[in-house]
Amino acid sequence: MQLLIATRNAHKLEEIQAILQLPGIEIVGADAVPGLPDVVEDGDTFEANAIKKAVELAAVSGMLTLADDSGLEVDALDKAPGVYSARYAGEPCDDAANNRKLLSALEGVTERTARFRCAIALATPEGQTETVDGRCEGHIELAPRGDCGFGYDPLFVPNGFEQTFAELDADAKHSISHRGAALSAAKAAWWNGSTFGLA
Ligand code: IMP
Repeated sequence: MQLLIATRNAHKLEEIQAILQLPGIEIVGADAVPGLPDVVEDGDTFEANAIKKAVELAAVSGMLTLADDSGLEVDALDKAPGVYSARYAGEPCDDAANNRKLLSALEGVTERTARFRCAIALATPEGQTETVDGRCEGHIELAPRGDCGFGYDPLFVPNGFEQTFAELDADAKHSISHRGAALSAAKAAWWNGSTFGLA
């Protein structure tokens, strides 16, 4: 059985493959399926965007489809960049530019609490959906550190750690990350030991 992951982001796909590990389920990314459209992420919430991506790609591909929508909420910035995390510094998406913009928005700010959030939606080709979510609390550093991961990883220090996400190895990040939490919830909700899907 195949499970389509509604992303063209190779880092995200790798993380999802590493965390889900479902025996007998072949995980394929959107780049591996010809003719899939790019879904416009214009929802107000992570959940709305995850549902939209999963439903549209499941309908076009005819495959059971899992979509993740995630981002960073910074309390001192009224929860920005939020659903705009990928394109915070404009299009095309540029992680380094996003990190520079975040640091300048927080210049002089001492209250730097933040969290990563992740919503995951599963959709059938017929349009049936369910969602789960996960979060990881932490704070934004004064300067980037570390070379692993992607996005805002070099600036985010999870609570209980001194390293940024980009200084932790992949397993350590997955064990505490928003995506790790959401995928564990997905597995618990939708994996029955031999099949993955909605009841
Ligand atoms: P999405 O593809 O619309 O879900 O965009 C998510 C964006 O949020 C990414 O492009 C990153 O900027 C940010 N983001 C989400 N998850 C992570 C993470 O685990 N580490 C760092 N940045 C992340």
